[in-house]
Amino acid sequence: MQIELTEEQRLIRDSARQIAEAQLQPNAKRLDQESLFPLENMKVLADNGFLGMLVPETFGGIDAGAIAYSLAMTEMARCCAATSVTMAVTNMLGDAISTFGSRALAERYIPRLTSGEYAAGAFALSEPGAGSDAASLKTTAIKKGDRYVLSGTKCWITSGDRAGVVLVMAKTDPKEKSRGISAFLVEPSWKGFSVGAREKKMGLRGSSTVTLNLDEVEVPEENRLGDEGIGFKVAMRALDGGRIGIGSQAMGIHQACLEASIAYAGDRRQFGQALSEFQAIQWKLADMATTLDASRLLVMRAASMKDAGVPFAKEASMAKVFASEKANQAALEAIQIHGGYGYTDEFPVERYLRDVRVSTIYEGTSEVQRIVIARQLLS
Ligand SMILES: Cc1cc2nc3c(=O)[nH]c(=O)nc-3n(C[C@H](O)[C@H](O)[C@H](O)COP(=O)(O)OP(=O)(O)OC[C@H]3O[C@@H](n4cnc5c(N)ncnc54)[C@H](O)[C@@H]3O)c2cc1C
Repeated sequence: MQIELTEEQRLIRDSARQIAEAQLQPNAKRLDQESLFPLENMKVLADNGFLGMLVPETFGGIDAGAIAYSLAMTEMARCCAATSVTMAVTNMLGDAISTFGSRALAERYIPRLTSGEYAAGAFALSEPGAGSDAASLKTTAIKKGDRYVLSGTKCWITSGDRAGVVLVMAKTDPKEKSRGISAFLVEPSWKGFSVGAREKKMGLRGSSTVTLNLDEVEVPEENRLGDEGIGFKVAMRALDGGRIGIGSQAMGIHQACLEASIAYAGDRRQFGQALSEFQAIQWKLADMATTLDASRLLVMRAASMKDAGVPFAKEASMAKVFASEKANQAALEAIQIHGGYGYTDEFPVERYLRDVRVSTIYEGTSEVQRIVIARQLLS
């Protein structure tokens, strides 16, 4: 496992930090309060290579690898978690297209994702009746000549109303479960594609989360990503990599909670001394820092395995479940350290808690991560 960062990885992390602090942080509160999609931030990310971190340079990416991607995601999430999830899904899409797509698909879609021509990419697996049990999805893709006709409803789709291209998983063989699923790249301008309700969420309010309706959308055969019947594999491979991204996002919010808590504990005085002089507060800070370091080691191990081209699904699940749960605990402790002020929007920690809450739910719940880990242990 690689622990020392390379010069390039350090440069990417430092540049991500500088951009996130200068461009993302100043607007994070407003995006949250007004539920505004981070369009300007996405342009900044595109201009600096952060939307093509996992794709080859020939398609407009920077092919920086999973470690560098994790470092950048952490920095973005530390300053604006809503932007980081929009960035995560866009990178995930480029990664999936470059891994499973034809050269023609890669040439058509990846440069538009990386350059910011598309505001974002979207990944559509979940349905009203298919969440953790994603293989039970009902959207169908019926072959008609050189096209597929897609019909169904997708829900919870991050950036589904903003994406230039959506990766849709649908059943080409409804009699089968996972082996009957294929993956398609669908453009929102195509007839029969419509956007439904936007969710009113507890956190990540700048990120849009919508229902997508597919009413006999005709998709050219060449827009199928990989062979017929491998769509579930495409989705699971994307989610394995995605879990490194969400683990990194959780770490960024965890880091922000720790920094805010150190600053507040140093400033606030009670009983004639700073809160940071109370051992009870010091122990909270020590635990927050220790679990953050442990998360980092787990996430870096998974990222380093992905970069080495070896199987990393179990390690990505371990990293995601640990980092997300510890970041949730850190956000609760950050509010505790801030006392009553932490419960108001005068300080950012209430937003951190609302933003981080979903990290144990999306891209596979904590329970699902433990199923993935246990399955490998017992196989
Ligand atoms: C903000 C947000 C953004 C999202 N973005 C996307 C997106 O871009 N694309 C996309 O496709 N989806 C997206 N999702 C959907 C997300 O991946 C699902 O919410 C998640 O997979 C859980 O599914 P569910 O909500 O239907 O919960 P359910 O599957 O109904 O689970 C409910 C509870 O039961 C537990 N449970 C379920 N099955 C088991 C089991 N076998 N053993 C033990 N416990 C179990 C779960 O862990 C959970 O605690 C998003 C969700 C949110 C909230």
